[in-house]
Amino acid sequence: MKRGYNVDDKGSLLIHSGNVVTATGSSRSDVLVRNGSIEAVAPGLHGATEGVDRVIDATGHWVMPGGIDTHTHLAHPIGRLGVTTADDFYTGTVAGAFGGVTTIVDFGLQEQGGTLGEARHQRLAMIAPDAVIDYGFHIIVTDVNENVLSEMEGLINSGFPSFKIYMTYGDKKIGDDDLIRLMEVTAEHGGLIYAHCENDCAVTHLIERHLAEGKTGPAYHATSRPPEVEAEATNRAIMLAELAGASICIAHVTSSGAARHVAEARARGVSVWAETCPQYLVLDSSVYDAGGGCEVAKFVCSPPMRDHSHVDALWEALGAGSIQQVSSDHAPFRFEGQKTGGCDNFTQIPNGLPGVETRLPIVFTEGVVRGRLTPERFVELTATAPARIFGLTKKGRIEPGADADLIVVDPDRELTVSAAVLHSDIDYSPYDGMKLNGFPTWTISRGQVIVDERALSAERGRGRLVERVPIDRPSLQ
Ligand SMILES: [Zn+2]
Repeated sequence: MKRGYNVDDKGSLLIHSGNVVTATGSSRSDVLVRNGSIEAVAPGLHGATEGVDRVIDATGHWVMPGGIDTHTHLAHPIGRLGVTTADDFYTGTVAGAFGGVTTIVDFGLQEQGGTLGEARHQRLAMIAPDAVIDYGFHIIVTDVNENVLSEMEGLINSGFPSFKIYMTYGDKKIGDDDLIRLMEVTAEHGGLIYAHCENDCAVTHLIERHLAEGKTGPAYHATSRPPEVEAEATNRAIMLAELAGASICIAHVTSSGAARHVAEARARGVSVWAETCPQYLVLDSSVYDAGGGCEVAKFVCSPPMRDHSHVDALWEALGAGSIQQVSSDHAPFRFEGQKTGGCDNFTQIPNGLPGVETRLPIVFTEGVVRGRLTPERFVELTATAPARIFGLTKKGRIEPGADADLIVVDPDRELTVSAAVLHSDIDYSPYDGMKLNGFPTWTISRGQVIVDERALSAERGRGRLVERVPIDRPSLQ
């Protein structure tokens, strides 16, 4: 029961007197953890602390499942621009741990002409030595051929059931012909297509038109990718999935049109899920005010932020259940030297915002504290649903047998965001100055306390590959 004792997988931990919040209910209870798993959840367990290695008094705190972020881009190369996201698997997973994330599902990129197996192998070798939290990854398919299609069944059945595709982005783009071939295979074997939906022809045309008209500053990024290009591609991806009988998850829904297509498809029984991200819930298109000069580059991501009617529509969709999860799309780039490379030409700005550490606090503050989401819905959106959609059977729940991935949060404790208090290896935060609740006092991963009263106590490389199962469509509805 020593303070600061960091139990290992063979240890035991009792978290007592907290408000235990799950996707289905909340109650004052104790949680007993042994050998990395949850052993019991019940009031009154703290009467029997004898022989327990560590006890955490969670009085006044909420005990919730650790966040699962199924959309992070750590050490992610942007070949076209010759840059890589600024967080590696150490800084990125440390940032996640401080933000209450206990599992990420990142990406492994198939090289043109390469195999999916090589993508998996290379990515595993990169992640394993550094991660402090558990991890999986989606394979990004960029080059479809017979060999790739025949590799997919084996990947689905060995813990890699989800495949990311981009409907735009140069040589990463997958055309409709290849998309339907991929979907036929995932439909047959229990895979999931995870789609970035923007109409490539329209985006390419609009970018060219902007540049020809001299509209080259960072502010023009947003007008080159309007909501219509997202809504159209979202509908097309859903229709192709419906045709193939495939399951699909729409990445980063930002617009009312895309959200409506998802809701309508779900109503007619299509296996479609959708995520949105915190930036689309708390920022709007005013961040692209041309008067902002190159500072605007800090907010360049795709899809871009939208006007306020879309922001309202996303909150509504989260409340109504037509969007099922919130991920970060964490793609951090330094302002100086990375984002500033495109001050005079928005096409040269690397796309992406940091977010793995602020995701839970933003949804907690803007959702739960402001009364837009129940605490249970918060847990569902940030942990339970991502686990269910992406096949992480032992994560996202507080019940006997589940992995002991937990966060203990003082709901009244507020932190003012700045790059200096966050742990990403970058020089700004898009949320600078924002006051947020919901940062965990303790973060626990498989029973190990990895953030201990806001101090890191995780060993580099302790994270493990999460085994994921094929997507079981009926259980997901
Ligand atoms: Zn992304």
